[in-house]
Amino acid sequence: MESQCAIVAYIAFGANIGDREKTIRRALDLLRETDGVRVTRVSEFIENAAVGGPADSPAFFNGVVQIETTLLPEALLNLLLDIEQRLGRIRREKWEPRSIDLDVILYGDEVVNTDRLTIPHPLMQERRFVLEPLVEIAPEVIHPVLKISAAKMLEQLRPRLAVSQNKPD
Ligand code: ADP
Ligand code: MG
Repeated sequence: MESQCAIVAYIAFGANIGDREKTIRRALDLLRETDGVRVTRVSEFIENAAVGGPADSPAFFNGVVQIETTLLPEALLNLLLDIEQRLGRIRREKWEPRSIDLDVILYGDEVVNTDRLTIPHPLMQERRFVLEPLVEIAPEVIHPVLKISAAKMLEQLRPRLAVSQNKPD
């Protein structure tokens, strides 16, 4: 891979059915096996309650992977959709449980708005389960539209509600 034309991109992953950890590891291996993709950093997997979707959706494992790639954004999306298919994701309703979801969150400092692809991912700045792992591996990376770092985006998220304000003495 010609390093001078490789772009640093970030992919958010999430899994909430089946053996979630194993599916994510398999997805990362499939990325590693792809010509034109180099996996450079992987965050911890964080367990999160499902947001939206059916009330009884199982919890997710989420994280973010940093890659260097010579694939163009559309080709990267096709690769991710192909990996989702291979790992058994069946697309029915939005936000239903899925074996694996792979979203491009950042692709260098490029802004893409087509029918198939929106980069930066439009919800990344609102999702703690994206920002926490992104900050773990790339706190300084800049959102090309908001012009702020991942660390700043996380800081600007509304703080988690405290579980209880009435601690006994
Ligand atoms: P979601 O990720 O919102 O839960 P899906 O994974 O079912 O939904 O994705 C639906 C479509 O979203 C994909 O087929 C793809 O064309 C589109 N899409 C738009 N922007 C992106 C992006 N940045 N990363 C991945 N998919 C995207
Ligand atoms: Mg997706």
